[in-house]
Amino acid sequence: MKADPATQLRLLDLQDLDSGLDRLATRRRDLPELAVIAERTKVVESLKADIVRVETEISDLGRAQRRLDDEIDLVRSRADRDRRRMESGQIGNARELENLQAELASLARRQGVLEDEALEKMEAAEELDGRLVKLAAERDRVQVELDAAARGRDEAFAQIDAQAGEQRGRRAALAPQLPAPLVTLYEKIRAASSGVGAAKLVRRRCEGCHLELSGAELREVASAAPDEVVRCEECRRILVRTAESGL
Ligand SMILES: [Zn+2]
Repeated sequence: MKADPATQLRLLDLQDLDSGLDRLATRRRDLPELAVIAERTKVVESLKADIVRVETEISDLGRAQRRLDDEIDLVRSRADRDRRRMESGQIGNARELENLQAELASLARRQGVLEDEALEKMEAAEELDGRLVKLAAERDRVQVELDAAARGRDEAFAQIDAQAGEQRGRRAALAPQLPAPLVTLYEKIRAASSGVGAAKLVRRRCEGCHLELSGAELREVASAAPDEVVRCEECRRILVRTAESGL
């Protein structure tokens, strides 16, 4: 393939633009904020699930507390009724009086047990409320970090995309000025060789594979016509001769 030396140098400009675009794409993909966002999102989701669990426990406990209060009310009103009967003086029967006293003693024990239970439930509810407050505070804290990372990502994306847009514009202007077969060959090599299709020959070294050319290879490149498109023997990339090639 033939291309005059100036065109070959402009192919290097195209390579620079493409490499720049590749670097921007890599920066966009590997943005540190993305890892932070993924990790913090998981933490927030897990905290939200914890909060739902604790809220469910609190509401279950609230129902149990109300049942217990109802039961305590029932025991109290029954004891009140028994006491009123005893105090009415209408019970003449000693056996009935004994039964009433026994029932009052039993109701008092029952009330004691229920009130202990109510106290335990109240303490458990306080503990759960405390846990809920801590979890909500932790969720808010992580959410703030998540929001900050998302803002950082958006700013970085906007900056990268603006640069990429500008570079793509320059590339779109340059590529049609080069011979289409040369660009096609360059793109084919670029796709197969880690994004580098054309490389400079600098001080006897191919800047594509960074290997030094042998004496015979150098002689061959040096003797090739200036408009001959030469390829690196090692990496097969288009090798562009410049003033600093050392030929
Ligand atoms: Zn090479």
